[in-house]
Amino acid sequence: MSQDNLNFDHETKGWVDLIPHRKPQPILNSNLDTRWLVIGAGFTGLSCARRLAELNPNEKIVLLEAREVGQSASGRNSGYAVAHSHFSGGYQKDQLNQYKRIDRINQAGLDSLKSIINESQINCDFKESGIYHMAADKSSSEECEYFVDYLQKRQIEHRPLSQDQINLELGTNWYRKGVKVKDGALVQPAKLVFGLADTLPSNVKLYENSPVLAMEIGKINTVRLPNSTIKAENVIMACNYEPIANGKQKQRVVGVTLSGSITRVLIQEEVEMLGSESSWGILSLHSGGATVRLTEDKRISIRNTAEYNNQRLLSDGQLKERQKVHRQAFDNRFPGLSHVGFEHLYSGVEGVSANKTNVFKKLSSNLYFAGCYNGSGITKGTAFGIGVANFASGNDDELVTDCLGIEKAKWLPPRPFLDIGAWYITKQRFKGVGKDY
Ligand SMILES: Cc1cc2nc3c(=O)[nH]c(=O)nc-3n(C[C@H](O)[C@H](O)[C@H](O)COP(=O)(O)OP(=O)(O)OC[C@H]3O[C@@H](n4cnc5c(N)ncnc54)[C@H](O)[C@@H]3O)c2cc1C
Repeated sequence: MSQDNLNFDHETKGWVDLIPHRKPQPILNSNLDTRWLVIGAGFTGLSCARRLAELNPNEKIVLLEAREVGQSASGRNSGYAVAHSHFSGGYQKDQLNQYKRIDRINQAGLDSLKSIINESQINCDFKESGIYHMAADKSSSEECEYFVDYLQKRQIEHRPLSQDQINLELGTNWYRKGVKVKDGALVQPAKLVFGLADTLPSNVKLYENSPVLAMEIGKINTVRLPNSTIKAENVIMACNYEPIANGKQKQRVVGVTLSGSITRVLIQEEVEMLGSESSWGILSLHSGGATVRLTEDKRISIRNTAEYNNQRLLSDGQLKERQKVHRQAFDNRFPGLSHVGFEHLYSGVEGVSANKTNVFKKLSSNLYFAGCYNGSGITKGTAFGIGVANFASGNDDELVTDCLGIEKAKWLPPRPFLDIGAWYITKQRFKGVGKDY
């Protein structure tokens, strides 16, 4: 059975198309018994499987992926591996423990990625260059003040930036102000996720194009695929916004579809118009604002649309329409480069919860779920993967306590209310976005 016959949309566009094709691991076609099964090979599942392998060196860890690695959000994101999250609104003293907890989780993910990338020599353009947070309009400028105050109070290393300074460093006059946070890295997401999948420990067996269609929960869980059945003692679901039929979890995560474009490689004179930094990444201080990067290979990537599209990727027709929005945002920021064409156009679906938090849960004695990072899952997903592996193995360390301590995601209503609610919440994200779009 091919992916097209099932409900797993998967066309590859964007970051995956910028790099050589990767040969996927085989489909699972025979029945299996296993102690450990991880479902989903994005950042969460890959990290979880790797950690389980480390904790259980003499056991086989089975990792199932419905699509091919790189086709989900983990291969389609904008590549910001954050160390410090931005919380909108002013610093709240009573939230200090929560701020610290989230930063510890981000840091655990960043540290893990760094050590895997170094040890396994994964070439993924990983650069610990820090991250620019920018404001182009009124409400984001207020947010910038709040964020700088927050960074000062938390003693997180940062550098506030004026419009002139931004222009000098990045070659755009579009932003009124900003702040550069020293910690955090940029990465080519598809290269990273390919690298993580291709350097898994030898006791992890990855099967691709192998979707779980149903699961019966019991002392031993029975997991059904198109051509096989797995009997699994422990199951970790790392499948983000896609609930598994008959899985035990209530709907708390919904898929929101984002889109972006990537230019051709810029020539030297064009690169010289982009200020003094050799590559950089801008996150918007407005939740609906554009993320813009100058990549290591000298392309500009821009991502700004977000919508509820029934938790699906955009069609070619929808993508072409969205590219007009990317074009406008690009020309606003870089009028001197308006002749530069886009070469790639892509969408991706991120898992979002109603109250913008994550899910880390034991669903029954031998069934776990970790996911939903609201657009910030490279470091957090990696950390949650380690955390859920530790948790399921009975190692309740500080990371597990931190993951369990995250605010609980609210329950979401079933369809059709889900669709209406998700559509509305996504629209709200753009309130007051103005020039940040
Ligand atoms: C356009 C875009 C830009 C983003 N930018 C950033 C960014 O710059 N920085 C950042 O930190 N985060 C960013 N994110 C969010 C980040 O990509 C995600 O939070 C992260 O990739 C989630 O990882 P995951 O492993 O939990 O989920 P996924 O990557 O979605 O992986 C889940 C996997 O489970 C598989 N699966 C689902 N159901 C089944 C099943 N039944 N059987 C088998 N397999 C199944 C899926 O095929 C999928 O591969 C962005 C997201 C998008 C879409």
